[in-house]
Amino acid sequence: FNERIYNFSAGPSMLPLPVLEQAAAEMTNYRGSGMSVMEMSHRSKAYLSIFEETKADFKRLLAVPDTHEILFMQGGATLQFAAVPMNLIGTTGKADYANSGNFANLAAKEAKKYGEVRIAASSEDKNHTYIPAQSALKISPDAAYFHYCANNTIEGTEWKYIPATGGVPLACDMSSNIMSKPVDVSKYGVIYAGVQKNMAPAGMAVVILDKKLAGKELAYTPKLMSYQVLLDSDSMHNTPPCYTIYMLGLVLKWLDRQGGLAGMEKIKAERAKILYDYLDGSPLFKGCASPEARSDMNVTFRTGNEELDAKFAKEAAAAGFENLKGHRNVGGMRASIYNAMPTEGVVKLVEFMKNFELKNK
Ligand code: PMP
Repeated sequence: FNERIYNFSAGPSMLPLPVLEQAAAEMTNYRGSGMSVMEMSHRSKAYLSIFEETKADFKRLLAVPDTHEILFMQGGATLQFAAVPMNLIGTTGKADYANSGNFANLAAKEAKKYGEVRIAASSEDKNHTYIPAQSALKISPDAAYFHYCANNTIEGTEWKYIPATGGVPLACDMSSNIMSKPVDVSKYGVIYAGVQKNMAPAGMAVVILDKKLAGKELAYTPKLMSYQVLLDSDSMHNTPPCYTIYMLGLVLKWLDRQGGLAGMEKIKAERAKILYDYLDGSPLFKGCASPEARSDMNVTFRTGNEELDAKFAKEAAAAGFENLKGHRNVGGMRASIYNAMPTEGVVKLVEFMKNFELKNK
């Protein structure tokens, strides 16, 4: 009853145990301040030092160049589906989108409210089990930006290359794989990510913006969605999600202790390989994604029999492996194995799957 389980939820997801323990220890009296971080004025000295350190750690870990700034914005990744076009589409009125899955498609649909959206590539023909190749991307020079989703959380596919756009600004949803590996931020006009998978409890998105793209928002853009307003106010135009930012700070310190993003990249590749190697040899379970497009964050698989899938998810939950049921759009199973999932969790899951396989041949 009191034991922590392995939580394979797609988001919100596991947080590192040492982070939760530190937050608990600091909950009622943050480092002698006499109050919880939850109770601090966002303008107070104590809070500003948390805020600035978190920003600095974020920039250092992801090697964010001076041309770019990070913004903390509420509304999750979904609000960015609107914020990106509101801020960027105005230059030409047109944008190109790759439809590589559910969230990529939702982003494109939302953008249609603000300008002309063209689908530059799609993997819909094969249920989004693969990632379009560079040669398949039709990006026009008059696009204000090209948008793609780096990791398709529901389908379990991940882009293995950064699209070349011929100078068109690159916009990317990295909600489900940010901070899992180093990224060349200089290639991007804007990156955004909801924090609740790899970084922090839910409550905001982090936006990494090439500053030269700010200041061109559509006239009716709400103030709180204007990248320029957020830049000018250092993400404090109004009260920011203070506690989520504090938790992000603790997670970033933990990431440092794992060897930063180079360390994380090694860990996540090994962790995912354990599961994929097993799936490749299993007579019962089959991976859903095309092998060259497989995500190291969301592993989708199925038995081919819906009843057996349901039985598996139920028995796994009872054994302490929670949230393995796949998304309703795709069915089957999905193991989300973000940064905070210990490798041991995947090793034990595979043991459980082997046993299930033996009993259900
Ligand atoms: N994009 C991706 C890739 C996601 O996985 C999700 C959430 N699962 C979203 C966007 C939506 O995020 P939010 O709930 O933060 O709006």
